Amino acid sequence: MNNQIRTRFAPSPTGYLHVGGLRSALYGYLYAKKTGGKFILRIEDTDQGRLVEGATEKILAAMKETGLIYDEGPDVGGNYGPYIQSQRKNEYMKYALELVEKGAAYYCFCDKARLENLPDVNGARRYDKHCLSLTKEQIKAKLDNGEPFVIRQNMPTVGSTTYHDCVYGDITVANSELEDQILIKSDGMPTYNFANVVDDHLMAINCVMRGNEYLSSTPKYNLLYDAFGWEKPMYIHMPVIMRDAQHKLSKRNGDAAYSDFIEKGYLREAVLNYIALLGWSPKNNQEKMSLIEMENLFSIEGINKSPAIFDPMKMNWLNGLYIKEMDFDAFMDYATPFIQKTKVAGKYDMVKLCKLLQGRIEFFGEIGDKVDFLEEFGEYDTELYINQKQKSDKEIAATVLPHVLETLNSVETWENSALYEALKNLAVSLDLKNSQILWPTRIALSGRDSTPGGATELAELIGKDETIKRLKFSIDLLNK
Ligand code: GLU
Repeated sequence: MNNQIRTRFAPSPTGYLHVGGLRSALYGYLYAKKTGGKFILRIEDTDQGRLVEGATEKILAAMKETGLIYDEGPDVGGNYGPYIQSQRKNEYMKYALELVEKGAAYYCFCDKARLENLPDVNGARRYDKHCLSLTKEQIKAKLDNGEPFVIRQNMPTVGSTTYHDCVYGDITVANSELEDQILIKSDGMPTYNFANVVDDHLMAINCVMRGNEYLSSTPKYNLLYDAFGWEKPMYIHMPVIMRDAQHKLSKRNGDAAYSDFIEKGYLREAVLNYIALLGWSPKNNQEKMSLIEMENLFSIEGINKSPAIFDPMKMNWLNGLYIKEMDFDAFMDYATPFIQKTKVAGKYDMVKLCKLLQGRIEFFGEIGDKVDFLEEFGEYDTELYINQKQKSDKEIAATVLPHVLETLNSVETWENSALYEALKNLAVSLDLKNSQILWPTRIALSGRDSTPGGATELAELIGKDETIKRLKFSIDLLNK
C-alpha cells in the first residue's frame, strides 16, 4: 500500500450538506492533514433519480466556507479525475464485464413481475440467482435480442466475510446475508455501490472514512476488491448521530443541514467545532478548538463507537463562546443583518445595541426575541417583580418606582454611568439594596425578566422620554 493516506469525502448530491456529511468530510480532512496525506472530494451522482439541482454547488461552497480544503476534486482537478461520477459513466461497464468474465458477477434478465414475486428469505425479498444458471448461448441470444438486463454481483452463499474496521474492530457478516446486489442498472449506469468501489480503487483511495450505516455492507465491497484482485483500503466508520436516545438525526427532521445553522446565525467555526465532537474527543478533552487545533489533536483512537447525541444546548453554548470572543467590529458586521430583520431596525444606536447583545446571545437568530421589547411594550405580568434573589416584590416595586422616576428625571447626562450612579445613590438614601432598585426598574422598562443589558443600559438605549413614559406606565400598572 502506498504509505501516504489518500482519503475521500464522497457525498451524493441529494440535498444540502447535512451534519453527518459534514462530519465525514471533517474527519477525512483532519486525518489527511494529521498524517500528511491527501483529502479528495468525489461527487457520487450516478443515481440520477435522487439528484437535487444545485446540491453539488452547495456542497462545494460549504466545504470552502468551513475551510475543508480538498487536494483533489471536481473544481480543482487532480491526477485521478474526473471527480464527478456521472462524468466517468463509461468507465464502469468494462469493470462489470471483467467480473462477469471472472464469475464474480452475472447478467440478469428477470423482469419486474418475477422480481416482485420472489419469496421472502428471513423477512427480506432476495434475488434467487435465477439467471446465474443461464448458459453463455442463452445470454448471447438474449443480448442479441436486445432484452434489457442488469449485472449482479455473485455473492458466495456459504461461509462468512470478515474485515477489520479501525473503530469497530473485526466485523463478520454471514455470506448468506449478502444479496446479489445490482452493479449495473438496466440503463447501463452503475449503482452507487459499484461505482463507489471502482472509483475508490481508480483514485487510489487507501482509507475509507464514512458513517457506520455502511459497516455491514462493507463485506460486499470487499468481495468486489477480492474479485478484481485489488488491494482493499483501511476502513474507519463513524458512529451514528442521534437526535435523542431513539431517533437518528435526519435530514427529514429539518435542522440537520449545515446551511440552516448558518442562516440561523451560528458561526461556521463553531458549527464545525461542535460537529467535530459528535463522535470524537481529543485526549485532553478540550472542547473549544479551531480547525488548526483539531488537525493537531485528531486521532482515530479518539473516535467513539457509541452513538453521538446532537445536543442543541451544547451547540448553543459553544457558539455563544465564539460570539463572546468575536472582535466588536466583526460582531457588529455579523449582527447588523439580523438586527435589520427585526422591528428595531434603524431605530437605535447600533454600537450601543450591539454592545448589549454581544455577551448575551448564543446565536444571531436570537436577536429578534432579545430586542423586540424595545418596540413592543405594554401590559405585562406584574408577578415579574417578585424575585427572592434580588429581594424584590410588588410592594417594593410600587414604593421605589416613583422615586426612580423622579431621580432619573433629574439626571443631566443621559448616559449609563450617570444613570447608574444616580440609582445607586437612591438605594443608599432609601436604605435598600441596589438590586431592589435595579430589578424593578428593569422590569418597569421592559416588561421582561430577561433583557440584554441592565436597567440603566436599557434606559440609555431607549432614551429619556421613553424611559419616563414606561416608568409611568409601570407605576400605573402596579397600582391597578
Ligand atoms: N455517496 C455515499 C454517501 O453519500 C458515500 C459513502 C461512502 O463514503 O462510501 O453516503
